Amino acid sequence: MEMTDFLNKILDFFLPPRCKICGKVISDNNGLCPECFQQISFISTPYCAKCGRPFFEAPHNHNLLCGCCAHEKKSLFRMNRAAVCYDDASKNLLLGLKFFDKTDNVPLLAKWLKLGGQDIFNAGVDLIIPTPLHYLRLVKRHYNQSALLAHELSKLTGIEVNYSALIRSRYTKPQVSFSGKARIKNVKNAFYVKHPQDVCGKRILLIDDVMTTGSTLKECALVLKKAGAKSVDSLTVARTFKD
Ligand SMILES: [Zn+2]
Ligand SMILES: [Zn+2]
Repeated sequence: MEMTDFLNKILDFFLPPRCKICGKVISDNNGLCPECFQQISFISTPYCAKCGRPFFEAPHNHNLLCGCCAHEKKSLFRMNRAAVCYDDASKNLLLGLKFFDKTDNVPLLAKWLKLGGQDIFNAGVDLIIPTPLHYLRLVKRHYNQSALLAHELSKLTGIEVNYSALIRSRYTKPQVSFSGKARIKNVKNAFYVKHPQDVCGKRILLIDDVMTTGSTLKECALVLKKAGAKSVDSLTVARTFKD
């Protein structure tokens, strides 16, 4: 344990826990006050069995696919899941983790990942892999938020994490500066598998904080499949939905 972690633990012992969104003092250490918790849109059934897109009308059977997945012949992914919708309420926690060193949001968000990924864990996972950052961005930001989430999720599930098999070889501009097709182009050939023997024949779970168009996750899945991964799933804390 680092000294700062140690001091924070001591402080936490004396200071009451606070809501991670509004900062209000809360009675238990669940992370959010009841009001802020209510604002979070957790994704629950019914949703597409493959891509996890919520259905607005309940289908009769649970194995239904959305229009896109029903027509797609070959998909890179076995399943895509996200715990919550990306909206004003969840944004706060995720941006805090990504840009403002709010790494103490990780345990709460990892708990959400475990809940949101139930279908994936039931189907079986051999290895967790976080979406990698380019080393220059890692130097600038000091940590990879996806790796922190993967580490915590591994503690909750007992599934091993690999931080070095998948590498971001090209320095790309943040996806947020592009839209649609430009995002696909931006991350094209940005990743490679350094140690194919680590992923070959394995059921891989890719972890990221947010899924928007899915271009980054798709590009990662593509190289993992090429390296011989048996299946690839994606699990993100949040996801945007556009119709
Ligand atoms: Zn609150
Ligand atoms: Zn679908």
